[in-house]
Amino acid sequence: MSEERSLNFIEQIIEEDLANGVNNGRVLTRFPPEPNGYLHIGHAKSICLNFGLAQKYNGKTNLRFDDTNPVTEDTEYVESIKADIRWLGFEWEKELYASDYFEQLYQFAVQLIQQGLAYVEDASAEEIAAMKGTPTTPGTNSPCRSRSVEENLDLFERMRKGEFKDGEKTLRAKIDMAAPNMHMRDPLMYRIKHAHHHRTGDKWCIYPMYDFAHGQSDSIENITHSICTLEFIPHRPLYDWFIKELNIFPSHQYEFARLNLNYTVMSKRKLKQLVGEGHVRGWDDPRMPTISGLRRRGYTAASIRNLCDRVGVQKRDNMIEYSLLEFCIREELNKTANRVMAVLDPVKLVLTNYPEGQVEQLTAENNPEDPASGTRTLPFSRTLYIEREDFMENPPKKFFRLGPGLVVRLKNAYIIKGESVEKDAAGNITTIYASYLPESKSGGDTSGLNVKGTIHWVSAEHAATAEVRVYDRLFNVENPNAEDADFKTFINPDSLQVIEKAYVEPGLLNAQPGDRFQFLRKGYFVVDQDSTPGKIVFNRTVTLKDAWAKEIKK
Ligand code: ATP
Ligand code: MG
Repeated sequence: MSEERSLNFIEQIIEEDLANGVNNGRVLTRFPPEPNGYLHIGHAKSICLNFGLAQKYNGKTNLRFDDTNPVTEDTEYVESIKADIRWLGFEWEKELYASDYFEQLYQFAVQLIQQGLAYVEDASAEEIAAMKGTPTTPGTNSPCRSRSVEENLDLFERMRKGEFKDGEKTLRAKIDMAAPNMHMRDPLMYRIKHAHHHRTGDKWCIYPMYDFAHGQSDSIENITHSICTLEFIPHRPLYDWFIKELNIFPSHQYEFARLNLNYTVMSKRKLKQLVGEGHVRGWDDPRMPTISGLRRRGYTAASIRNLCDRVGVQKRDNMIEYSLLEFCIREELNKTANRVMAVLDPVKLVLTNYPEGQVEQLTAENNPEDPASGTRTLPFSRTLYIEREDFMENPPKKFFRLGPGLVVRLKNAYIIKGESVEKDAAGNITTIYASYLPESKSGGDTSGLNVKGTIHWVSAEHAATAEVRVYDRLFNVENPNAEDADFKTFINPDSLQVIEKAYVEPGLLNAQPGDRFQFLRKGYFVVDQDSTPGKIVFNRTVTLKDAWAKEIKK
């Protein structure tokens, strides 16, 4: 959206900084994903914000992988994260890894020990937790707090050398065990983890905690505005404390509200469960709120950026309607997607008075919303497919489609009149018979008839077959996280419907994965990567109208 809007609160802060000459007008932001999963639409919000601010204020954005936890991280995730950011339309200044700073961070820790501001702790995690106290009662000092600088330096070096087992020792900052902010009660800086790291291999067996890695990494890179989500507000005093005591570049942290979408989950831990336990077909399953899933579903980068823009930058958590995301893509595809005809639930229609063996090439407009999109030709013949639901044997009064004696227009073709049907033993209609009006051809209709309904069709002999995957919400409830039960109990069992054999215009056989179309009267669809030369696979991106809004009110 390019229309004027007022500044968000982070833009206000940056403009004030610029006015006051802070950092000589330099703006450097960063996007700091942990490479432990694929990016989701919440990350897209953070990406659009960080890269967008840099673009707006002539600054730059670093991509920094926050890879301080060796156990959960993987290079597969690193690659997918980079691909997703580029697909969203952004390019980073530097590609950096917190693990590249492990030596520097170690030296920072040594410096704090030397300043008497950090100590090696012998207590177990449970004992440390017990010493922490509660928000209303002060904690108690650890006996290790009074260790000498020399002893601490020696123990810390031996931690690095691998002389201790996991959990045997930690390094803690010496701050204040009675601080009202629990994060300031001698927080952990380092833990021992004899684990292989995807980049540093077996070089390290001690790893810095988030709080000791994140702010220091910001500072090493001279980040000016470090933007994160609201849950980090209580961490900010510690962020500032480390920077002040180390006397290093003063990066500043600012917090905004996470993007939450209803009818889905967004934590990587939960998304990983959905993938790992086979509830979806992978991280890029079109039902997933991941960027790769949305892409495969047919969402464009512009539609996702548009959503992030509309949501804005808030200071309070809120829940965004999934239908707003759908609105964004629908609005875009209405302008850009070519219209085609596809019959998803086919039944045969024979035009009894149309000459056998005759084929006409009819002209059809590609997109009435876009005159530049041109026209295409469509083969028309005696035997067609139409949607089963477009015919009724005993239609009610206002059924403006096909039935015995009813007239309807075949899109881009002729007006037809229903005659009779043929059924199988079970009573299902197998063939519909109708007659056509030769003088009613679209573009040169001299019939003088005014018919109310228009239906889509394909020529049976010419149509291409396609598999069509129709998706619905992945969860049945608005907020699967808020309920008491496991979020997986709210999975919608009907979130995927596969139509094995639909018929589409023959021209679609040349479509490529990622090509987007409006199937007339049916919705917007995208060609899936599973397509093979003989068989094209479509994903439904979104319906033409917000059907869901009505349904939940029922
Ligand atoms: P998750 O809980 O989904 O695993 P995370 O915060 O642990 O998310 P990170 O990889 O650490 O994931 O996040 C990278 C950046 O993206 C962080 O700055 C984080 O604040 C931001 N981010 C993550 N989720 C959202 C969200 N829903 N809305 C906005 N920003 C988000
Ligand atoms: Mg995280």
